[in-house]
Amino acid sequence: MADIQRDVMDMDVLFVGAGPSGLAGAYHLARLIKTHNEAIDKGTKQGQKINLENGIGILEKGRNVGDHMLSGAVMDPVAIKELIPDFIEKGFPVESEVTGEAVYFLTQKSKFKFPILPPTLQNHGNLICSLNKVAEWLAEQINSEFSDMINIFPEFPGKEVLYDGDNVLGIRTGDKGLDAHGNPKSNFEPGVDIHAKITIVGEGPRGSLTKQLVPRLKLDEGKNPQVYGTGVKEIWEIPAGRLKKGMVVHTAGWPLASNHYGGSWLYMMSDTMCSIGFVSALDYSNPTFDPHGAFTLFKTHPYISGLLDGGKMLTYGAKTVSEGGYWSMPKLYADGVLLIGESGGFINISRLKGIHLAIKSGMLAAESAFEALQKNDYSANTLKIYEEKFKSSWAHRELWGSRNWRQNFTGSFYTGMIKAGLQIYLTGGGTKHRTPIAVDYKHMKKKTEAGAPIEKVKADEKLTFQKLTDVYYSGTKHEEHQPCHLVIGPKDLADICNTRCKEEYGNPCQHFCPAQVYEMIEPEPGKPSQLRINFSNCVHCKTCDIADPYQVITWVTPEGGGGPVYKNM
Ligand code: SF4
Repeated sequence: MADIQRDVMDMDVLFVGAGPSGLAGAYHLARLIKTHNEAIDKGTKQGQKINLENGIGILEKGRNVGDHMLSGAVMDPVAIKELIPDFIEKGFPVESEVTGEAVYFLTQKSKFKFPILPPTLQNHGNLICSLNKVAEWLAEQINSEFSDMINIFPEFPGKEVLYDGDNVLGIRTGDKGLDAHGNPKSNFEPGVDIHAKITIVGEGPRGSLTKQLVPRLKLDEGKNPQVYGTGVKEIWEIPAGRLKKGMVVHTAGWPLASNHYGGSWLYMMSDTMCSIGFVSALDYSNPTFDPHGAFTLFKTHPYISGLLDGGKMLTYGAKTVSEGGYWSMPKLYADGVLLIGESGGFINISRLKGIHLAIKSGMLAAESAFEALQKNDYSANTLKIYEEKFKSSWAHRELWGSRNWRQNFTGSFYTGMIKAGLQIYLTGGGTKHRTPIAVDYKHMKKKTEAGAPIEKVKADEKLTFQKLTDVYYSGTKHEEHQPCHLVIGPKDLADICNTRCKEEYGNPCQHFCPAQVYEMIEPEPGKPSQLRINFSNCVHCKTCDIADPYQVITWVTPEGGGGPVYKNM
């Protein structure tokens, strides 16, 4: 499709991804420009007005803003207060303020309450939210205040970064109406080339554009690789009287092995509505490890099954989370481009929080874009002000304070807890030099070295569910007749799944995907099993792109509008 005629659309500033960082950034930028221009009109400020020629755009791959958003989520309100001080009066979707909290260590049958709440997990004053409602609300604020300046384009996935040399020119959006072989169907609509003075990328964890852009522009030079966990989540309606509204519970320990970083959450959105989930780090060694399986097993713990007993699962979702912290943040700017939210590594895993940092990163990028528009200079030399603004903000102080957190957990979880705790509270975060960390997939061991396969719980479809049942509850849909968006390659390695991987690792994709996209099936009875990719189940979590031991799976954007439709997540 290289010779295809594409429309070119110009924007002044283009945000890629309608998550909290992109939406907050666009809102803040529009307000800065409007306030600036009004002040010049009134004569209270000197200078040139900023006349947007083509406006601010926001691309979103989901059918609606919020559809692909998933988080725990307990939000620190510090950034939303800065963005919209009267956010509560304006109807910000708070499920509950945090009213109580506990942290437990689990063994298979018991639980032990931490006598002291670790300060990183103290949530007094924070808000239990649903991230997809937060994104919807931010889009509403944009539409009611700045619809003349900002256009949101749902169902427009960013497919490719457009460059002029190393200068980012904009984004090519995905084609619509291609058949399974990539040939145009009768409804074919080519993607559009959107050129922008500044492209601000906030795609969430393991963004497919960020993955191209960071190495190409060498934004990861001298940095740690990003490392990830996979979070698997359900919303349950449970009988009243189990946990009160606003209660926040975290657990560590079982069912993860003692060298595996991760844990669970239960957040009470009301007296009967519970957000429950489990995050497992992706630097595990056993190729049969399954993040959905760990969540399933966790729900069979007597404490958890007792809480959920008599309840009903309402929705399901899964998503990766960037865990690397400060040293895994790429350089945040280059010619014509800024990275925000998880594309820039803005998440504090020691606090299990990122929404506040995402919003703040969007705001800082907006302030930097505002200055670039004033100077009419979009080079890295001007845009580096974004990194300077970050360095003098509370976001930097917070991330710097936990800069070595995740590196402590590459061995024993328990030793890691002690080291990380002492580091943060006694030495302000430990060494000022970068402590390295290895990329996740390098930890995976071959079948012969990894020990026994990890046992799985048989789903009872009341407390525990098969992956396919869960996928149904995620609302996931894709147009079936389109190219598979899980690309195995390059070409000379395209058969590795049916040959070497089967022998060496036992096809870990069957286990790590929380949506049963990858299946080894016998094409005919007695014939060797072959990989089948059920791409229409994909919940866009990106685990496969990260955890595959040969790094031959590339997640690319499917046709716009495909994917999960999360509610209350
Ligand atoms: Fe996640 Fe990959 Fe499975 Fe899609 S195919 S749900 S991105 S692991």
